[in-house]
Amino acid sequence: MNKIILKSGREKALLRRHPWVFSGAIAHVEGDPGMGETVGICDSRGKFLACGAYSPQSQIRVRVWGWEADEEVDAAFLRKRLQNAIALRTGWRPETEDQGAVRLIHAESDQLPGLIVDRYNDTLVMQILSAGAERWRDTLADLLLELTGVAHIYERSDVEVRKLEGLPARVGPIRGDEPPELEIEENGLLFKVDVRGGHKTGFYLDQRINRARVRELAAGKEVLDCFSYTGGFALNALAGGAGHVTALDVSADALALAEANCARNNLPAEKITYLEGDVFHALRKFRDQARSFDLIILDPPKFAPSAAQVKQAARGYKDINLLAFKLLRPRGILVTFSCSGGISAELFQKIVAGAALDAGLHFRVLEQLHQSPDHPIALNFPEGAYLK
Ligand code: SAH
Repeated sequence: MNKIILKSGREKALLRRHPWVFSGAIAHVEGDPGMGETVGICDSRGKFLACGAYSPQSQIRVRVWGWEADEEVDAAFLRKRLQNAIALRTGWRPETEDQGAVRLIHAESDQLPGLIVDRYNDTLVMQILSAGAERWRDTLADLLLELTGVAHIYERSDVEVRKLEGLPARVGPIRGDEPPELEIEENGLLFKVDVRGGHKTGFYLDQRINRARVRELAAGKEVLDCFSYTGGFALNALAGGAGHVTALDVSADALALAEANCARNNLPAEKITYLEGDVFHALRKFRDQARSFDLIILDPPKFAPSAAQVKQAARGYKDINLLAFKLLRPRGILVTFSCSGGISAELFQKIVAGAALDAGLHFRVLEQLHQSPDHPIALNFPEGAYLK
């Protein structure tokens, strides 16, 4: 096995079992490891620390597979990791919860760096984000087929971060045919999922528990769901007895699915308005029209995928949160999210506090919301806590 030797003192993160080795921490590379090949990681005196996947083009040069010196990364190793992650999902979720829609594999948090797998009934959608997972793509697909018994595995490896790893975008069936038109059940509501053309793997499973919470808060209220996508929050608000819901999104396709989802669930069509538009503009227009709402949801896309975009992203978050605060009626509730890896929970709180200050009213935090538990956060990998 080729080896990575770290600079003196740069083993600290690994000793805390943080699973990333940055290029700047490496003193030298012994041998000539290829893309995604397994390498040993050693401290400056040559003592073994971990083994991981080598990614020659990425700033994150190695992602740790395991911490044992005598472990080999092969199909048997990956099978154990997958089994463990899948077993946890069945153990955590109450019997009453819909088992058809679940994130089965959550990358680093499940000790499978760069591998995302979402299950939608009989279809898995796989997203490969790192050179290491890419190298084992076929093995992982075969193992997933065997361990879950699904009929289709579809790949949605078409995300920007693959470029950082030097990997091309790839979309299409990996095992089985093109998946059928999918419909999942979440919190008792049905949603159509477009795994081919939708965002990410097709559906934002991470918001499941928060959508249920919004349903509890919505009775009798006038609700504005910003960044509505296929209606996740909007339809839960309707199901919770909202007086009226406005679903706002820039994507006409997403709103068309939201409308189909509304009909599919026999929710009252007269109580929802679909508004195609840019949230930044639409909120200003509402302000100019002196519109107001009892409950506003802000669930924007990642404004800061990494640290480089933080400043710009902070301005964006502040802008929409300030506008939303101003549109709230007395005792109104704002449900606001950031899913940006580059924005910490602490920074997000500061941004929202700055917006409240500028709005000039007294706002209090009622609850801190997080990603659903099928997107677990490994304690040695705090970066996994991306949704706040
Ligand atoms: N709340 C959704 C998920 C939101 S995903 C759910 O529960 O499923 C983010 C959404 O924001 C996408 O649908 C995208 O089309 C939309 N979007 C991105 N930028 C936007 C903008 N500036 N204005 C309005 N919508 C935007």
